[in-house]
Amino acid sequence: MHDNNIRRIAIVGGGTAGWMTAAALSKLIKPDYCQIRLIESEDIGTVGVGEATIPQIQLFNKLLDLDENEFVRKTQGTFKLGIQFVNWKKIGHKYIHAFGEVGKDMEGVQFYHYWLKMLAQGKAEELDNYTIGGLASDRGKFMRPIDAGNSPLSNIAYAFHFDAGLYARFLREYSEARGVLRTEGKIVDTILRASDGFIESVQLASGERVEADFFIDCSGFRGLLIEQALNTGYEDWAHWLPCDRAWAVPCESVGEPTPYTRSTAHSAGWQWRIPLQHRIGNGHVFSSRFMSEDEACSILLNNLDGKPLAEPRLLKFVTGKRKKVWNKNCVAIGLASGFMEPLESTSLHLVQSTIARLMSFFPNKSFDQEDIDEFNRQTSFEVEKIRDFLILHYHATERNDSDFWNYCRTMSIPEDLTQKIEQFKKNGRIYRNNTEMFNELSWFEVMHGQGIHPRAYHPLVDRMSNDEIAKRLEGIRGVIEKSVDYMPTHAEFIAEHCKA
Ligand code: FAD
Repeated sequence: MHDNNIRRIAIVGGGTAGWMTAAALSKLIKPDYCQIRLIESEDIGTVGVGEATIPQIQLFNKLLDLDENEFVRKTQGTFKLGIQFVNWKKIGHKYIHAFGEVGKDMEGVQFYHYWLKMLAQGKAEELDNYTIGGLASDRGKFMRPIDAGNSPLSNIAYAFHFDAGLYARFLREYSEARGVLRTEGKIVDTILRASDGFIESVQLASGERVEADFFIDCSGFRGLLIEQALNTGYEDWAHWLPCDRAWAVPCESVGEPTPYTRSTAHSAGWQWRIPLQHRIGNGHVFSSRFMSEDEACSILLNNLDGKPLAEPRLLKFVTGKRKKVWNKNCVAIGLASGFMEPLESTSLHLVQSTIARLMSFFPNKSFDQEDIDEFNRQTSFEVEKIRDFLILHYHATERNDSDFWNYCRTMSIPEDLTQKIEQFKKNGRIYRNNTEMFNELSWFEVMHGQGIHPRAYHPLVDRMSNDEIAKRLEGIRGVIEKSVDYMPTHAEFIAEHCKA
């Protein structure tokens, strides 16, 4: 009988996306069922800047059965409880978007509604004091959650910072041990089947031809298969997210690593600071419409903690997404599928979620078009919701000190985002849209942090007297403070468990 199953997969590209895909597929599909081959070119290289992640990456590590301490050690990693945003609402202001719970919900109503009421009366402290991630970030503390019943220590949400190059190497070892074949070489041509335009093979500079049933394009911005061969098209979002360049440079560490990523807004973009064990990753994301490359580079170099460890590298990008992430027998993952700046550290999450979606929609050689359409619909939904969350950071600002901020503050924004902001302003409610990635608490932390204040709070808050609310808030604050007192410093935790 004709075998209609996919028996040969070719992954084009060995950056983080390529090796994450190879690792996950090799864990789930054995080589006697399907051969997986990865082609990469050392001459071309990878983007490989420092990476910050979000807590969902723990699921990916679990899927691979990774030992977390070994993973952190081998990637010079550190832990991350959230992102600190400096100068985003206005110069001199800062807030933390911390992972995990905010306060404790009371009588079926979210904590933040009670907090908003008390804040308006001057009876509440800063939000960080009611979130374990926020306060632990402020104090440089970290530990993994422990089984401590109702205590916030049971509920510490965290992610990682790590060196992307080391991560790719780590995943390469993992994948090769599970049968992935790696080919070093430059692809110079893609051969399409005459009958239907599906990809038949790729041609290497060495003359070798690699055939496969299914191709995964992880070739980075150039989109070697999805764009250059299949002409899929690209949706450009630069009118909402005008940054299109980044200078990246690592520098020496000074002091202990912070358990959070820092994002500092400048006059035409923002700077990331990602602490690793052996260095700090830095980059200045900016808009070339509003600032020259030279000026952006000197701003970065003038705002480093320690001495730069390399020459700054310029990366150019167009924010947006491929019109179809899956086209014919090719799925694009990573930068080949589109790009959004790392403001909320979502790129690797999108790699991971596309891999998970690919497993649910795994095809046979018939490549059912309805499945492909649904895959593309779900992928678009996911990235568009993240895009709106990023736009929020730029749009909701009081900054009027540069043309860039004047543009962002006054630009038109997507309809869904307008509705979300207006609803929040009206009565403090936030609706999570089905499976959108950022939950109500993330939206709340950023909307509040950027200076959006609702005119009302949940009416059921008024069931409780002000004294009672104040007492309960104080109780929560005290428990959070005690929990953070109990935690070791981030540096102590690393030294004990995962020092490189
Ligand atoms: P690449 O790293 O570009 O890899 C492409 C691969 O394709 C390489 O192996 C290359 O050799 C191969 N290739 C290309 N053409 C050919 C050819 N012709 N023949 C053979 N091989 C070929 N993500 C986060 O989650 N957190 C962050 O903090 C973060 N910060 C970022 C900052 C910047 C400025 C940028 C640009 C990205 C950032 N990202 C971040 C995104 C993250 O770096 C990427 O999503 C991730 O590294 C995946 O890249 P990739 O593997 O898709 O592409």
